Amino acid sequence: DTRTVVIVGTGIAGSGAAQALRKEGFGGSIILIGSETEEPYRRPALSKELLSGKASIDRVRLRPSTFWNEQGIDLRIGVTVTRIDTDSRTIHLADGDGVDYDVLILATGGRSRRLTAEDSERVHYLRDIADMRRLQSQLIEGSSLLVVGGGLIGSEVASTARDLGCSVQVLEAQPLPLSRLLPPSIAEKIAALHNLAGVALQTGVDLETLTTGVDGVTARARDGREWTADLAVVAIGSLPDTDVAAAAGIAVDNGISVDRYLRTSVIDVYAIGDVANVPNGFLGGMHRGEHWNTAQDHAVAVAKTIVGKEEPFESVPWSWSNQFGRNIQVAGWPGADDTVIVRGDLDSYDFTAICMRDGNIVGAVSVGRPKDIRAVRTLIERSPDISVDVLADSNRDLTELAAGLVALPV
Ligand code: NAD
Repeated sequence: DTRTVVIVGTGIAGSGAAQALRKEGFGGSIILIGSETEEPYRRPALSKELLSGKASIDRVRLRPSTFWNEQGIDLRIGVTVTRIDTDSRTIHLADGDGVDYDVLILATGGRSRRLTAEDSERVHYLRDIADMRRLQSQLIEGSSLLVVGGGLIGSEVASTARDLGCSVQVLEAQPLPLSRLLPPSIAEKIAALHNLAGVALQTGVDLETLTTGVDGVTARARDGREWTADLAVVAIGSLPDTDVAAAAGIAVDNGISVDRYLRTSVIDVYAIGDVANVPNGFLGGMHRGEHWNTAQDHAVAVAKTIVGKEEPFESVPWSWSNQFGRNIQVAGWPGADDTVIVRGDLDSYDFTAICMRDGNIVGAVSVGRPKDIRAVRTLIERSPDISVDVLADSNRDLTELAAGLVALPV
């Protein structure tokens, strides 16, 4: 194969695709380009072991530094792509250089959604190592922190900050934290975890302003409530990084639109990871997943497409979060209106909650039961005809139920 594959983005999707191409036997050139100045690392560590200081950057690299060269992967970090010319098949870089490609994979991920408030030294976002270091330098024992947004970053940062001995207030717009991810009955239990850990969680906050004064940062809600702290972390979601793709005429709609082979609207240009909006083979419609395992699975799938072993992309998402000493795992696509079947005990934070929609299993959330999450992913894939009674029966092991299905012909 004499083709040159250029990959833009060094996150788990982009660096995963480079590795997957080699695993699939691709013998052409691979150039892996990204604006981040660090070699590929595990981004989920930013809000947890890196921020807490429990791990150094060397401990969270995806691969040793020598790996990329050994694999014949030309890794170029700290390099920003400014323009794509799909006619001449060239990408243009911020330093004026151009790189020609035969195949282009866009794995540009997302960026933090920002408040319109002006930037200040005391206001932080968390997306990359530089953000993490800046936040870490101010997150010292005894300091006070305002977290705007009680989603995944907000909850994890709140947990880490409590461990570091900071006082923490979380301001969430919705009635419950993590409401994008969890059904309300489960999100309520997570809200209780915040409170148990000494986090002051404020919900239903309609933020009007976030201003920096000499004494700290003040958040003001439209209903007149006001909170002040030494610093603030704003974690109100991420936006897919589609600018360069859109400017090149590649179809964009809530991310870069692709088909089930990860192909964009332009020939030989693919998109994977957080930025890709992909048809959902299980639920129908399009889905843009912001999950580690989705990015990894996209990487493998796009490599297969490129080497001619294409299969329609199909994967049940799965994610995990560590907060307040609990391991929370989510599978599938839990929704606010799902019927929730609880196995185990919510109050002792030892449970798996299975989410049903229109009689089908569509997702699950577990605390402290990771094996169940693996089983539920199989149940979603196989969409078996299992009664609610069986699912609710804690004496029936989910792993065994799933294993029984795997043994059956599809
Ligand atoms: P998120 O979507 O998980 O949460 C954002 C939260 O902010 C939501 O609860 C939302 O209701 C709230 N919000 C929105 N606007 C607000 C406002 N004006 N005032 C107050 N609250 C507001 O996004 P995030 O936490 O910023 O995370 C960003 C990305 O990082 C996501 O893709 C997420 O999946 C990823 N991430 C994942 C993990 C994990 O899987 N464990 C951990 C950290 C980050």
